Amino acid sequence: MTTVGILGGGQLARMLALSGAPLGLRFLVMDTEADACAGQFAPLLVGDYRDEAALAEFASRVDVATFDFENVPAESAEWLATRVPVFPNPRALSVAQDRLVEKNLFRSLGIPVGEYAAVSTRAGLEAEVARIGGPCILKTRRLGYDGKGQFRIKSAGDIEAAWQALGAQADAQAEAVGLIVEAFIPFQRELSVVAVRGRDGEFRTWPLTENWHVDGVLSASLAPATIDDGLAQLAYGYANQLAEALDYVGVFALELFCKDGQWLANEMAPRVHNSGHWTIEGAETSQFENHLRAVLGLPLGDTRMLGHACMLNWIGELPDRNTVLAEPAGHWHDYGKLPRGGRKVGHATLRDDSAGELSAALERVGGGLQRMPQVDPVLKALQ
Ligand code: AMP
Repeated sequence: MTTVGILGGGQLARMLALSGAPLGLRFLVMDTEADACAGQFAPLLVGDYRDEAALAEFASRVDVATFDFENVPAESAEWLATRVPVFPNPRALSVAQDRLVEKNLFRSLGIPVGEYAAVSTRAGLEAEVARIGGPCILKTRRLGYDGKGQFRIKSAGDIEAAWQALGAQADAQAEAVGLIVEAFIPFQRELSVVAVRGRDGEFRTWPLTENWHVDGVLSASLAPATIDDGLAQLAYGYANQLAEALDYVGVFALELFCKDGQWLANEMAPRVHNSGHWTIEGAETSQFENHLRAVLGLPLGDTRMLGHACMLNWIGELPDRNTVLAEPAGHWHDYGKLPRGGRKVGHATLRDDSAGELSAALERVGGGLQRMPQVDPVLKALQ
């Protein structure tokens, strides 16, 4: 019996555990919170990721370890890797944890990125905003996700507020200020490549997915994205290069902006990704199952799509479930979390054989739920 250990016990760990059941796998999930939602389906070890005793217990009970959460301290992942195989490897995790290191890697691989610079002082921020010119985004290098740890700088007048929001506190406490300022990209579209690499280096991707965000949080995804084949191949190539450079094992997502027919890479997520949730019903093998196959060294499953799929995220609270369940192509995912503002509490996937049928299903669901601004851009993309 193989036990997979997962650091982080949120919905990603929960969906990993659910997809691993048919493979006969057992799981142990570690989280700092006793009510982590993956604990409803797998034994949960509550502990701090920096607590060696807790990590040692975790290591003693699993055959292989992986993550549902990229902000597990890199030292903890390294320590764990001396006891059990850890996939993706701790170096890949640490690169993806730091927006600056990650962007430097993209650039060194020839993956296009917008202008950016490291910032550690207020004067440095002013100088870089002036150099980049035009609107910028200030971000923390570490621990940012879903638009958290970010501040839009529309003009020089916003610099003080941006610094107060993200830099001043660490500076006042004489801590190193780790920020990155990026040019604001006026992109037309956001897409992601969800890809998997096996222990033997085999590489596969699911079709490109188009994504829509609200306040920095993913609200809807559509696959396959309608896109020029040359551009799609370029994107898959970037993901492949990245996976090779990091000797990556498992699923990851590469988030890309598309501006005037050109790619600019935003970031990579070293784990199964929200923009790949549609693969549960919309692909021959889901991202969750393929992640498990990869980390266990099993043959990878086919990533072929089954028709067209759209995923809608439920943020804060769940809408009426029956509106989705009444759809022949509607699939409901409730993460078993308490409702809370800004929290991802579930999603729905609509899957159909043709774009036209998917569009009709989406119209019905959007109409039934009556408060779904996220449906409109997807409907437009499906036209
Ligand atoms: P991130 O946490 O970096 O993935 O950012 C969350 C969202 O903010 C992205 O999906 C974009 O919609 C937006 N965003 C982040 N960085 C930029 C940028 N440099 N230019 C324009 N929009 C951005």
